[in-house]
Amino acid sequence: MIENKIPFNKPYLHGRELVYIAQSVASGKISGDGMFTNRCHEFFESKYNFKKTLLTTSCTDALEMAAILLSISEGDEVILPSFTFVSTANAFTLRGAKLVFADSCDNSPNIDPLQIEALITPRTKAIVVVHYAGVACNMGHIMAIAESAGIPVIEDAAQAIDSYYKDKPLGSIGCLGAFSFHETKNIISGEGGLLTINDLSLIKRAEIIREKGTNRSSFFRGEVDKYGWVDIGSSFLPSDIIAAYLFAQLENIDAIQARRKAIWKTYYDSLIYVAEKSGRFMLPTIPDFATNNAHMFYLICDSIETRTGLIDYMKTLGIHSVFHYLSLHKSDFYADRHDGRELRNSDHYSDCILRIPMFFELSDREVTRVIYSILDFFNLH
Ligand SMILES: *Cc1c(COP(=O)(O)O)cnc(C)c1O
Repeated sequence: MIENKIPFNKPYLHGRELVYIAQSVASGKISGDGMFTNRCHEFFESKYNFKKTLLTTSCTDALEMAAILLSISEGDEVILPSFTFVSTANAFTLRGAKLVFADSCDNSPNIDPLQIEALITPRTKAIVVVHYAGVACNMGHIMAIAESAGIPVIEDAAQAIDSYYKDKPLGSIGCLGAFSFHETKNIISGEGGLLTINDLSLIKRAEIIREKGTNRSSFFRGEVDKYGWVDIGSSFLPSDIIAAYLFAQLENIDAIQARRKAIWKTYYDSLIYVAEKSGRFMLPTIPDFATNNAHMFYLICDSIETRTGLIDYMKTLGIHSVFHYLSLHKSDFYADRHDGRELRNSDHYSDCILRIPMFFELSDREVTRVIYSILDFFNLH
């Protein structure tokens, strides 16, 4: 019997998305900062205690706003992991910064705090951390290093909605945080993002940068009697139609997260025995200080050959699994600019991580098929 294909990801409607989009249109205002944008901001600020939030058109844009807000300029150094998405790096390259790539930890793809400490120089202007798979970096250690050096920390929390370091929501710990609602994330709006601002002194300028360098937001609050060009900026705010879709997802975040966590647990419980017995792959570890928001389920294979074999085998069964980041310090764009240090863990995760299907509408039957395909592969090979 030929079974249906199982995609790696699938965007979905949870409930009232289309109703809210229609309401947004009926309200007579579908540009930015309309009724649903405000409802999203209120949701984030009350549920996660973020001091100030601003919806953006993407996490990429939120990161670009962060780089402008911290006045990153030519010759400044920014420390970030090599094992990350290109946007984490691009936002700072666009401002003329020199990227100083740090390696990942031995036991996790997250940035290694000890590497950060060793890479700080008088020119370091920012440290960017990425909570890979929504699992917190060691923020206690990282914030202690950053605070003693007086360097701001930006959290790339693109994958980290509804996830915590101890009792602190990710995105609320550094001075700025950036989330993504791209269709591959837990909570989606097609494209979409959020900037969280935890340093109150940055709020006013953030509003200006997001509104093309104008003080339009102050004008609408009646704080100034006309608005004009006061700083650099761009158009970083999304249409209220995007916010309408997003708000319908946020209303159901607990149900969405519960289903994802159930899928994650089934994968973990079904695969951990074979992982340990065969020694051919490892599963993610969740440190005591972190929660798991079930953004991603990945295997760390023992070699790139094993990974390629498994991808190909799953493909013959109609199951789409994918590898992930390629070390940025070895990218075509940056290899010549990198200072030559080897980043072995980043390269290892580039070669060996395999992500398997994980999305809200994945059925129990499909989860079982994915698990059997992996168990079969390791029994046969
Ligand atoms: C998805 C992702 C981004 C980019 O998010 P967009 O909303 O697509 O711009 C940035 N960083 C990380 C770690 C991501 O996973």
